[in-house]
Amino acid sequence: MTMVDLKRIGHWVNGAVQHGKSGRTSKVYNPATGEHTADLSLASLEEIDAAVAASKAAFPAWRATPLGRRAEIMFKFRELLDAKRAELAQIISLEHGKVPSDAMGEIARGIENVEFACGIPQLLKGGFSEQASKGVDVYSIRQPLGVVAGITPFNFPAMVPLWMMANALACGNTFVLKPSERDPSSALFLADLLKQAGLPDGVLSVVQGDKLAVDRLLEHPDIAAVSFVGSTPIARYIYETGTKHGKRVQALGGAKNHMVLLPDADIDMAADAAVSAAYGSAGERCMAISMVVAVGSSAEPFIEAVKARLPKIKVGPGTDPANEMGPLITREARDRVANYLEGAAGEGATVVVDGRQNLPPGNGFFMGVSLVDHTKPGMRVYDDEIFGPVLCVTRADTYAEALELVNSNPYGNGTAIFTRDGGAARQYQFDVNVGMVGINVPIPVPVSYYSFGGWKASLFGDTHMYGPEGVNFYTRGKVVTSRWPDPRTSSVDLGFPQNR
Ligand code: NAD
Repeated sequence: MTMVDLKRIGHWVNGAVQHGKSGRTSKVYNPATGEHTADLSLASLEEIDAAVAASKAAFPAWRATPLGRRAEIMFKFRELLDAKRAELAQIISLEHGKVPSDAMGEIARGIENVEFACGIPQLLKGGFSEQASKGVDVYSIRQPLGVVAGITPFNFPAMVPLWMMANALACGNTFVLKPSERDPSSALFLADLLKQAGLPDGVLSVVQGDKLAVDRLLEHPDIAAVSFVGSTPIARYIYETGTKHGKRVQALGGAKNHMVLLPDADIDMAADAAVSAAYGSAGERCMAISMVVAVGSSAEPFIEAVKARLPKIKVGPGTDPANEMGPLITREARDRVANYLEGAAGEGATVVVDGRQNLPPGNGFFMGVSLVDHTKPGMRVYDDEIFGPVLCVTRADTYAEALELVNSNPYGNGTAIFTRDGGAARQYQFDVNVGMVGINVPIPVPVSYYSFGGWKASLFGDTHMYGPEGVNFYTRGKVVTSRWPDPRTSSVDLGFPQNR
């Protein structure tokens, strides 16, 4: 990557890095060392307006670009991303802190969204009814919206932008991305690859910024739609503000994902799954399992099985490939998690394993793995999204009690049930008020040809992200009713018919 200056990180407008002129910056850190590694330019209102203007100017030609050409660019982008996985994983690891093997996982899932978008000619096929009336045909088409914006969180600096931009661009929109200010370089890397893949200048802009930038995008008259992923309070704000300004908005929020453990479950399999899903990426995943509802006799053997696994988890910087879990994103995030552990005992919970002990040396934002038992609704440790490596356990006497805990939770992003009983699992899938359900699968992130989205306070808006719902979100329907005189015109052309 030659075009990105890691010491002073700028914007991407009209196909090139633009150094910020606002004079406002924020600091980017290496969370594994605590070092301040770069200054990020924060966009001014004028810089946001300039990026939106570039995207607006690029829209007419891009929407007129044949579907086959748009697909070709996505195929090429997929090839470049595939070849550069390791390089992108390093960039993610340096700014986010997750270990490179974990970053490779997010890249793999992001690439699947690009692969889905390669099928755009098929995805945008409309319907056709011949002879709806005498000599009258009716057909439906889907057209792009115009300039659309994406606002993304720190925890998946490559995958979440790809969730949005692959479909948004393939559908013929131009796209303005406002990545998280904590780990902004991955977005510039993706923009550079898309340019290499043949994306015309202006079709994608990356603006770095904070609330000022977000608010401008939400009220900008030339932005047609906003996709957001982040925490629930901000998601609610984005939805309310964006819709007030007449925009189509999908805003995905936070989570408290419960795993229901029935007494007949394979306890070792459930413990492996819970440990992987709770502590992977230091718990900074919106689909992390943070709460286990242990039904009946399952609690004690489960706690023992988890306890046996925790000392083996290697916590440390991603520069050592042996490490499985990196630091938290900021010092404040680490202290916030510590604060939950500090308060847990006073609330009546039992801290079985305390991650504040035996931390790696140095100034990195590390927090070890924690296990907290006997948690209950009403405790902060139960009610809040901790977003750190803390697995909580609560106990229920019956399936019905467990279901009530999950359904009365304000969040509804993901959930999992662990059991050998197919009937019980099917009943749970039927009963539970959550958008993504795993049956003996702890992180049920849908594959790219389904769509991702929670219920309740985990999503504001009607459309889930990526997959078929993503294509719907980034297009609007038009229905044409047509009648023709019979022209009987023709001409001679011996060349093989071309469509570009
Ligand atoms: P965040 O809400 O703090 O930030 C998300 C984005 O909003 C960033 O680009 C940020 O710059 C912007 N932002 C922050 N405060 C703002 C404000 N006051 N006004 C306008 N914009 C603002 O989230 P985060 O800490 O970056 O990410 C973690 C959160 O994201 C967690 O709650 C996690 O569950 C959630 N998340 C959800 C999903 C999902 O699919 N549901 C996926 C990933 C992350």
